[in-house]
Amino acid sequence: MKRLIFHIDVNSAFLSWSAVKRLQEDPSCLDLRTVPSAVGGDIRTRHGVITAKSIPASRMGVRTGEPVVKALQKCPGLILVPSDFITYREFSRRFIKILEEYSEVLEQVSIDEAYLDMTGRCADPLAAAEEIRTRIRTQLGFTVNVGISENKLLAKMASDFEKPDKTHTLYPEEVPAKMWPLPIRSLYGCGPRSAERLSQLGITTIGAAAAADPRFLQDVLGDKAGTYIHNSANGISTSPVRAEEEKAKSYSNEITLPEDITAANYEQMMPQILTRLSDKVAGRLAKDGVRSSTVSVIVKTGGFRRHTRQTMLPSATNDPRTIEKAARELMYRLAFSEDGLFAADETIRLVGIGCSGLDDGQFRQMGLEEWLRDIEKISQKTEKNKKLDAMLHDIERKYGKGALRKGDL
Ligand SMILES: [Mg+2]
Repeated sequence: MKRLIFHIDVNSAFLSWSAVKRLQEDPSCLDLRTVPSAVGGDIRTRHGVITAKSIPASRMGVRTGEPVVKALQKCPGLILVPSDFITYREFSRRFIKILEEYSEVLEQVSIDEAYLDMTGRCADPLAAAEEIRTRIRTQLGFTVNVGISENKLLAKMASDFEKPDKTHTLYPEEVPAKMWPLPIRSLYGCGPRSAERLSQLGITTIGAAAAADPRFLQDVLGDKAGTYIHNSANGISTSPVRAEEEKAKSYSNEITLPEDITAANYEQMMPQILTRLSDKVAGRLAKDGVRSSTVSVIVKTGGFRRHTRQTMLPSATNDPRTIEKAARELMYRLAFSEDGLFAADETIRLVGIGCSGLDDGQFRQMGLEEWLRDIEKISQKTEKNKKLDAMLHDIERKYGKGALRKGDL
């Protein structure tokens, strides 16, 4: 049976969400989407890079990822606002909640995009897409593009056509007319290096890659990438929409403590435990070449009750410090909030960290936040890490080598 796949993508997500938040707080304020504006950098010092921009800013040549200074040269009146990930996560949650009403086979691929498998779920795809767009626009205040096709690749390509607030189809029979004339670099999964290499060899459009001898593409790009590019250029993709239940696979590590953690010794014990557990889980993710977008903490109390809390990251990662930061926040709330464990006079006897929402990263485009962090990391000195490392080994010295083990969520 032919599949029916929707790809739903929020238009300039961070910028739109910042704009909507401002309007909610003050309905008379300027709508950032209607003027040259951008998210990113340090607003005060005007350093850093652009992480999102409005369509008017884009028309003036402002590009995502470029230094704020450069963007301001192109567009001196550019309005800059800081990132606000708390707001972004909340809007993302509401966006997904609406989509869930249309199909339970939903795969969220990043903070602002998801696939829906609509096979057998609607008689009129265009009407369904229209309804989704209208509901998101009227109920949440921002716009999305919907791409419709028979597979994920083509649905994703379609949602990237003209923006904002548009539905596009890209059925296999439409590929020659709608996709082949596009430049090769716009083929999803074709990185800038591959695109440049292919262009040098005269393959400048997706159509040229589709017509090329697959063995030639494999020679140039390697077997895996060459096959991928040839299939994709021909609109072939068999990857299923992985609903949450199917990718329930998760990585976790946990530790049963020799003495319970209480409010009194929390600060002394918990941070180093979370650091070590994050290292373990992140190490296993990295070893398997996967990244996780959902971090959870697991606690067993002195009374043997199990509690978990989880949070979604703006982009999938296997960076131990990112996982640790999320785990620390979750754990602190679980322990110290008004309805938390310590308020209920509980103690903590087991601590775990789990990572789910896995992404094999094969053709993943690096999240900007992560990219920024990588740049920062390179510029940071190792001194801090050394100190941390010494602390990490402390716990194993104290509790023994086997103290940290794989969890079984
Ligand atoms: Mg988007």
